[in-house]
Amino acid sequence: MTSEVARHLLFQSHMPTKTTCPSSQVSDDEQKQKRENTRSLTMSGHVGFESLPDQLVNRSIQQGFCFNILCVGETGIGKSTLIDTLFNTNFADHESSHFFPHVRLKAQTYELHESNVRLKLTIVNTVGFGDQINKEESYQPVVDYIDAQFEAYLQEELKIKRSLFNYHDSRIHVCLYFISPTGHSLKTLDLLTMKSLDSKVNIIPVIAKADIISKAELQKFKIKLMSELVSSGVQIYQFPTDDETIAKINASMNGHLPFAVVGSMDEVKIGNKMVKARQYPWGVVQVENENHSDFVKLREMLICTNMEDLREQTHTRHYELYRRCKLEEMGFTDVGPENKPLSLQETYEAKRHEFYGERQRKEEEMKQMFVQRVKEKEAILKEAERELQAKFEHLKRVHQEERMKLEEKRRLLEEEIIAFSKKKATSEIYQNQSYMASGSNLKKDKDRKKISNAQVLEGGSKRASESMRAGSLVYRAQLEGESRRARESLRAGSLSYRAHPLPQH
Ligand code: GDP
Repeated sequence: MTSEVARHLLFQSHMPTKTTCPSSQVSDDEQKQKRENTRSLTMSGHVGFESLPDQLVNRSIQQGFCFNILCVGETGIGKSTLIDTLFNTNFADHESSHFFPHVRLKAQTYELHESNVRLKLTIVNTVGFGDQINKEESYQPVVDYIDAQFEAYLQEELKIKRSLFNYHDSRIHVCLYFISPTGHSLKTLDLLTMKSLDSKVNIIPVIAKADIISKAELQKFKIKLMSELVSSGVQIYQFPTDDETIAKINASMNGHLPFAVVGSMDEVKIGNKMVKARQYPWGVVQVENENHSDFVKLREMLICTNMEDLREQTHTRHYELYRRCKLEEMGFTDVGPENKPLSLQETYEAKRHEFYGERQRKEEEMKQMFVQRVKEKEAILKEAERELQAKFEHLKRVHQEERMKLEEKRRLLEEEIIAFSKKKATSEIYQNQSYMASGSNLKKDKDRKKISNAQVLEGGSKRASESMRAGSLVYRAQLEGESRRARESLRAGSLSYRAHPLPQH
């Protein structure tokens, strides 16, 4: 009793008792040194500190305990039934479907009372485990969940204002890994999952539904499973043998792993006693009968004998490893160069210094990159400007040539107009003269003939004069047409010139 209480005392004050990490090695050595400097004295009378273990027991009972179980196994393998049977209660977990697209971890916390001891029990179930085609998708969420609980605890520990006393510790203390009673060998998924979990959690493998495999096959199956686990390097939880009060039983139980279990909440009357059993047409499988299943061994080891060790191992081994890796990832270390011990403050200062140096280097790099980019951009812009200038010059030349051509056209048109005006004036003179000439001929005829057929002559003269007038009208119309065309062409020229004005210099 006292040794168990002492162990609990050590755990409660978060002082690792057995661990493999170097930081705790250092503190162990320091403690040994201190012990060597301590003198041992005997008192002459009763003082009272012998009641310390009792004080601790009282405090622990008041505080209550917490225990977190993770059940990993395919849907329908018997996880919920076994947990109900283990704690002798109905946790009312709903039946899971086989058609979930992802593995989901469902945690449910219950408060149980036995005598005056309170237990805060959290059961985490893997919903949809093994139902996915991609095996990695099945075990990664489980790994992530365990890490997330460690991370939450670490964050609480690192807070300035910590409340670890009231903190609901959700770190997984044990993983019950359910193996199908196939009688063959471990599935790849089982090996992969256990391999990725063994450094994070205490794994206790169990052969589920052990009543559906014969006794002889079960023995062979157990041996095969253990050799497969050993050859794959999977570390399963070993019941501790360092405490002599339980060393013998634990050592013998380690030889029974993995436990072949049967779960059932149904009760069957055997003799005059009601017992938990599974009833079949050919007989009854009694859950608590050690000839039928290892259920009692599992319950004894998990709950009655090693629950505290599982909690302690979780804190001192698995969490310690997570914490060490995490702090190392963040750049913290216990020893500096030349293996000199380094305080947290010194590590922090060194890290800060390194960070500022790195930041300055990056800033410088970015500045140079920026200058280079600006230069490149400037060169591109200058090239574009040169091209634009060349284009402008070319267009300017084309416009000038065009303008000169139009000027030339205009000059020619003006000359044509002058020539036409001259022609017109000449034609008008000719027309007047022809009129006058036709008038004097008629008079001469009248004088010469003066005969009676004056009317005929007169008609003839009229026709002649009409024909002349018609001739002159046709000629005039031709001239006017020509002049109109010339004017229109001039107007068109001037419109085109206005529509495309030449650049001014
Ligand atoms: P879970 O999905 O893994 O939680 O599986 P359940 O606990 O819901 O069990 C699925 C089915 O298996 C139920 O019909 C149970 O009655 C049955 N079952 C549970 N444990 C055992 C067992 O030990 N042996 C046999 N044969 N059947 C079991």
